[in-house]
Amino acid sequence: MFQPTPRDIKLLPDGIHITWTDGHQSYHEHRALRYQCGCAQCVNEMTGKRMISLTDVARDVEALDYTTVGRYALQFLWSDFHTTGIYPYTTLRMLCQCDLCRKARAPVGPSGAA
Ligand SMILES: [Zn+2]
Ligand SMILES: [Zn+2]
Repeated sequence: MFQPTPRDIKLLPDGIHITWTDGHQSYHEHRALRYQCGCAQCVNEMTGKRMISLTDVARDVEALDYTTVGRYALQFLWSDFHTTGIYPYTTLRMLCQCDLCRKARAPVGPSGAA
């Protein structure tokens, strides 16, 4: 199975920009991605329930640095010093906030034509 991997990762003031080996350009808001952290402090491992709410995440949180984990994930150093979260590439693609992915994900309803 083809799994895209990041070719270029930029931590910019407006968000995290990832260019993938398949050419897709992802965008993630810092705070949104921090909120999606999947570590044991943020998500209950037994129930899969998220233990934090968006209001628990500092408004101005941002990724200061990142490191790659094996060949499958990224780990970010957040400005609130939360570093335990690992973001598998598949998750990052799933959470991509670029226009293309937003549109693909948007529910198509009767009034959904934009
Ligand atoms: Zn976490
Ligand atoms: Zn995208």
